[in-house]
Amino acid sequence: MPDMRSLLRVGSEGPDVPVDLTAIDPQSTPGLPGRKVTGSDPKLWARGEVERIGAELATQQEMLFAQGTVEPELGRSVLLVLQAMDCGGKDGAVKRVAGAMNPLGLHIKAFGPPTPEERRHDFLWRIRKALPPAGYVGVFNRSHYEDVLVVRVMGLAPESVWRPRYKKINDFERRLVDSGTAVVKVMLHISHDEQRERLLSRLDDPTKQWKFNPDDLEARARWDDYQEAYAEALARCSDAAPWHVLPANRKWYRDWALAHLLRETFADLKLSYPKPEYDVDAQRRRLEADG
Ligand code: ADP
Repeated sequence: MPDMRSLLRVGSEGPDVPVDLTAIDPQSTPGLPGRKVTGSDPKLWARGEVERIGAELATQQEMLFAQGTVEPELGRSVLLVLQAMDCGGKDGAVKRVAGAMNPLGLHIKAFGPPTPEERRHDFLWRIRKALPPAGYVGVFNRSHYEDVLVVRVMGLAPESVWRPRYKKINDFERRLVDSGTAVVKVMLHISHDEQRERLLSRLDDPTKQWKFNPDDLEARARWDDYQEAYAEALARCSDAAPWHVLPANRKWYRDWALAHLLRETFADLKLSYPKPEYDVDAQRRRLEADG
């Protein structure tokens, strides 16, 4: 099994070389084993694997939580940053992969347009407030990257404002990583055609129509500008915490690959359950005597 983080990592050519998203096929399934392993139905196989890995993630999360409770000064936490074009599948990925973990230990935060109060602060203000405490797994559904994506593409601020943010983001993420947070950044990469299909299916299905937002079509009209903004952000901000581009046209592959990225991140932390500071036998004897 290849290391999925190495396989999906981008930005290795340095901050000045925009990531070539056109070279990454959203339909592809890098790292997926061949039919010898998956059998004739890779989709079914991948769904089974997501359940299996999900159980492992739940155990890892519990150990992280236990460690955060017993040794909060270590400041250990995990932060998954999810970015995607509209309909990129962030919600589905959160549901299927983060959903395998205990909701009590999750800190899920979605970022929409800043509120008037948030606008009065630095763009990282609301991000800092939403960081997972020690022992928690944080999930950002959109993030501080919107401040170099939508803000750039829609001209919500001049370049003199958004360009310096790359460095601010790198500095911020460096501090975050140094203080014990394992940061996993993932762009769910769908194609222009796939987005159209997914938008249409929202319109066609009365149970999904509420998800459709006519404004999404404005963003879709600026697809190339967004891809360009992503290409630059991914390259410039893969310093302290590298970006991964995950081909996401196939939902089952998306979930499978994301589960692996999280599993590999947890594995680095080398977590274990904390040893009790009390004498287990002595406590047992006390209870037994209380029979
Ligand atoms: P989603 O599309 O993630 O399911 P919403 O439909 O609520 O959720 O969309 C969130 C919207 O908020 C997106 O259009 C996104 O571009 C916008 N947004 C997020 N962060 C910012 C920001 N910092 N400045 C402006 N708009 C933002």
